[in-house]
Amino acid sequence: MTQPVSLAQAVRRGFTMRCPNCGKGHLFRRFLKVVDHCEVCDEDYTPQRADDFPAYLVIVVVGHVVVPALLAVEIAYAPPAWLQLAIWLPVTLFSSLALLQPTKGAIVGLQWQTGMHDFAESKNRRSASSTKSTQSTNTTSMKSHALI
Ligand SMILES: [Zn+2]
Repeated sequence: MTQPVSLAQAVRRGFTMRCPNCGKGHLFRRFLKVVDHCEVCDEDYTPQRADDFPAYLVIVVVGHVVVPALLAVEIAYAPPAWLQLAIWLPVTLFSSLALLQPTKGAIVGLQWQTGMHDFAESKNRRSASSTKSTQSTNTTSMKSHALI
């Protein structure tokens, strides 16, 4: 019997770049290339359509951190422009690269758990199997109840 995966759990597993279904297999085969199937549970990830959404999210998050920090440094210390560039360009570049893969993983986890795009078939299969396990549990409890 498998427990259904919650939305938060699927997004968390994706953010840690693990398979949203089992949490063990790798979600990426290269930097931003999602695996076709999980090596552990064989879940199909070909229906994922994260597209540019992870990049938009990373731009929003990094922009909301870097721009206020840059302005605070400018107001407090008024350093020369070359020093501001020397600090904030690498910070922006490395934080964007560091967040891009986990953010894409989280988006794939979100799409998988909610059944977006062609993940609907996978979601229906998961719902059917959890319903079956619930029914078998109910049948077992009815049988044990009948024996009492
Ligand atoms: Zn898996």
